[in-house]
Amino acid sequence: MHYDVLIIGAGSAGLSAALTLGRCMRRVLLADGGPRATKPRPACTAFSRATALPRPSCCAWAMSRLEPYTTVEVQCLEIDGIVPEGRGFRATGSNTADDTPVTITARRVLLATGVSDILPPLPGFRELWGRGVLHCPYCHGWEVRNQPLAVYGQGRTVTGLALLVSRWTDDVVVITNGPGHLTPNARRRLRRQKIKIREDHITRLVGSATNDLQCIEFADGSQLERTAVFLHAPQHQRSALAEKLGARHTSRGAVWVDSAMQTSVPGLYAAGDTTPGTQQALLAAAAGARAAIVINEALTREECPR
Ligand SMILES: Cc1cc2nc3c(=O)[nH]c(=O)nc-3n(C[C@H](O)[C@H](O)[C@H](O)COP(=O)(O)OP(=O)(O)OC[C@H]3O[C@@H](n4cnc5c(N)ncnc54)[C@H](O)[C@@H]3O)c2cc1C
Repeated sequence: MHYDVLIIGAGSAGLSAALTLGRCMRRVLLADGGPRATKPRPACTAFSRATALPRPSCCAWAMSRLEPYTTVEVQCLEIDGIVPEGRGFRATGSNTADDTPVTITARRVLLATGVSDILPPLPGFRELWGRGVLHCPYCHGWEVRNQPLAVYGQGRTVTGLALLVSRWTDDVVVITNGPGHLTPNARRRLRRQKIKIREDHITRLVGSATNDLQCIEFADGSQLERTAVFLHAPQHQRSALAEKLGARHTSRGAVWVDSAMQTSVPGLYAAGDTTPGTQQALLAAAAGARAAIVINEALTREECPR
């Protein structure tokens, strides 16, 4: 085997796992397909609470922390296949710089490949994503506190999110882009929090040159000035590697893991957004560290049989 552990994905989970395994002197390949694999997730305030870094600088900073650990290699590789081989795995992929095909063998694989968000197909949502269009009040609520906000969506999802966002401001408007499918009870709960509902069709979100939201434009030409729109975007796995290997998924599409962070495929582990649970950079980093410890202990047991 070329490596003890192949980590796929150098976001919070993968970087943190690489750090922990590097400190265990494990031979590690940290492979990330970068922007070509998919667009990196745009923002991250987790480390910035201490360092005021946006996500790319945050990842570069985390990457620089790996430098002392000479058993950890970082490569720009998009991994497109994994198959079990012997007591480990064989992974195939390509170098994102020049498309050179690569084959890697490793005793264990950690998937830290994250998720992708499916945004409404309306002009402005993708352009303002991470700035004027936000997914998580725990991540961004503080920055837009006490400002006019909108919450996009329909049914139970939008009701729950709008009630949550009303913690940060008393000026919330639910925008549904057509029928909101809100029950009388949902409407009553929203009304009680003084949350307004607009079920008009949306034409576009109007942003500034810096991708801040200026207003929401409706089909009748009217505009609603807002500082930000929150939404719970549906998601899918960023990589199909777990699915191709036949690993079990939850009903919500996350990669299922047991209490030791192992998927249903022995030797294949997963951490971070790809698994169920709250999606936060620090939580993904913690999960990455935990997976690394579990993997190191499994490898140690294998090396020191009873
Ligand atoms: C708009 C937005 C803002 C956010 N803001 C915050 C915030 O302020 N604070 C906070 O705590 N959290 C925030 N989050 C959540 C946070 O970004 C995630 O919880 C965190 O990034 C998850 O880390 P991860 O390592 O699991 O996945 P990711 O960070 O998504 O990393 C996955 C990596 O895997 C790579 N990859 C995928 N497939 C392959 C493949 N086949 N081969 C090679 N590489 C591959 C990708 O290129 C990517 O680099 C935000 C999320 C979004 C969408």
